[in-house]
Amino acid sequence: MSANPIDDQIEAAVAHTGRIAAHVFASGSKVDDPRGWVQQVADDFAAAYLADLRGCGHLESPQPVFGAASQMGALWCLRCFYPRFREAMWSTCDRCGRTSPEGEAAVSAVTMGAVILVLCLCPQCQATVTAEQQGGPREEGRG
Ligand SMILES: [Zn+2]
Ligand SMILES: [Zn+2]
Repeated sequence: MSANPIDDQIEAAVAHTGRIAAHVFASGSKVDDPRGWVQQVADDFAAAYLADLRGCGHLESPQPVFGAASQMGALWCLRCFYPRFREAMWSTCDRCGRTSPEGEAAVSAVTMGAVILVLCLCPQCQATVTAEQQGGPREEGRG
């Protein structure tokens, strides 16, 4: 149906995105079909980006680009994003705002086409959100 060559490029970028996500976020979990809170964050992020295009200057070619829930609407290429990934911002939960000791917070990624939206979650929110993605609507409270 789509005879548009741009579609091919986007598809290639998506395939590439999957590989990079699996590599960079090997210790986190990857959400492919977001629901609930994750879906809402993804929607908010896309809306913020479309309302005010921001990011580094390397987003022209079809390649995976990265965003963070703590900086809604801004996109970076992997090279520009990676230093941010290592900063202390990744210890603050994007869902409840709690700061976790280093190494305890889980990093999850939502793939939206060629965009990888990176989320930092405390262990509790990670469990809740993970359950939400698996279709269990009421997993609050018990560990
Ligand atoms: Zn860049
Ligand atoms: Zn949390």
